Amino acid sequence: MNSFCGQKPLKIAFYTFGCKVNLFETDQLKSSLNNVEIVSCDDDADIFIINGCTVTATAEAQVRNMIRRFVKRGRVIVTGCFVRKKGCEKIGNAEYVPTIAEVARLLNAGELRYDAFFTRSRPFIKIQSGCDQFCSYCVIPYVRGPLNSVPLPKIEELLHKIAEEGFREVVLTGIHIGKYGRDLADGTTLADVIGAAHRIIGRVRLGSLESPEIDDRIFRQAEEGLILPHWHIPLQSGSDPVLKAMNRPYKCSDFAKSIERLANIYKDLPAFGTDIIAGFPTETERDFEETLRFIGSLPFAYGHVFPFSPREGTPAAVLEKESGVPYAEKRERARLLRELFAKKEAEFKKSLDGRTDEAVVEEKTGNSICRATTSTYQDIEVRGEFEKRSLLHVKLSCRDGKLFGEPL
Ligand code: SF4
Repeated sequence: MNSFCGQKPLKIAFYTFGCKVNLFETDQLKSSLNNVEIVSCDDDADIFIINGCTVTATAEAQVRNMIRRFVKRGRVIVTGCFVRKKGCEKIGNAEYVPTIAEVARLLNAGELRYDAFFTRSRPFIKIQSGCDQFCSYCVIPYVRGPLNSVPLPKIEELLHKIAEEGFREVVLTGIHIGKYGRDLADGTTLADVIGAAHRIIGRVRLGSLESPEIDDRIFRQAEEGLILPHWHIPLQSGSDPVLKAMNRPYKCSDFAKSIERLANIYKDLPAFGTDIIAGFPTETERDFEETLRFIGSLPFAYGHVFPFSPREGTPAAVLEKESGVPYAEKRERARLLRELFAKKEAEFKKSLDGRTDEAVVEEKTGNSICRATTSTYQDIEVRGEFEKRSLLHVKLSCRDGKLFGEPL
């Protein structure tokens, strides 16, 4: 089924699961299609395109549910990591197409565009794909392949376009951005991309970054004010033996040093976020208690907690069969971790009361009310009429755990 000039445009609805890279890739696909009308998933559509995720068992179950819902309503094309996973389950007559580039070809769009049209006020740009870390629990290196960085001139071209469109902030994303450039012959690194993004756009937010990859150049850039005070640094466990079994390339003490060094760089405490896996197969009660203690000792503003779910084909899936943590215990550990992070999040928000900051307007949410995102990645409510994407200088206040911004 193709679309041709002069024909009624195809109505296409998109649903994206997973990370910022998937969101970027869906935008890429949208911008590459010709003569199509993009509609909401609640509307009637000729085609439903699902960009699926496989990072956890829960993510996969959500994708399967969505496919079941959409196959009753029309043609369904499923793409993304969900499809690339070995042995993914076929549902109804949904078509499984491994990559968005192939979906673009299937729908006669030709080459996939890199200059995606941006549906957000703070565009995400994908600077690389792939990962060669092979953490023992993770399926991503198998479904996303090796490191594949976008050359710097191509990123710069996109950044100029983003600046011309009037965006004030950019988010650098990828599967493993700390390894940006290692597959390129010209020696460019993440620091070069940060430098270019700051020069061209101004406000630069980093996607998830592994602690060993925050090198001296990046610390210096943070000191020079090139990077927004928001760092998402995955920890995964606060116990060294578990980190080793996970094939994570650092110890807790190294992680803590990076956080401490960054915290000292900024005038006010930056927002530190992290990811934690609860109930990894080798995680004993003692390891878990150490994890709770370690997290308790660090100034996290939020944390994402994932109860361990084995991913077929990974070393940790074998460990899980041999000696997994019982399901109820995993859930309990996840609950305790979430409770701890909720407390830290509330404390962090409270610490922002009275601080001034800059925030990008995301959307209008009511009569003279807007939602905006601060430098420290907080959602705030601002009274007044403001253009989407505009940058506001605000004074923050925290009431009942909610943040408000008063324009200055
Ligand atoms: S660094 Fe580890 S967790 Fe992150 S994508 Fe690579 S293998 Fe997965």
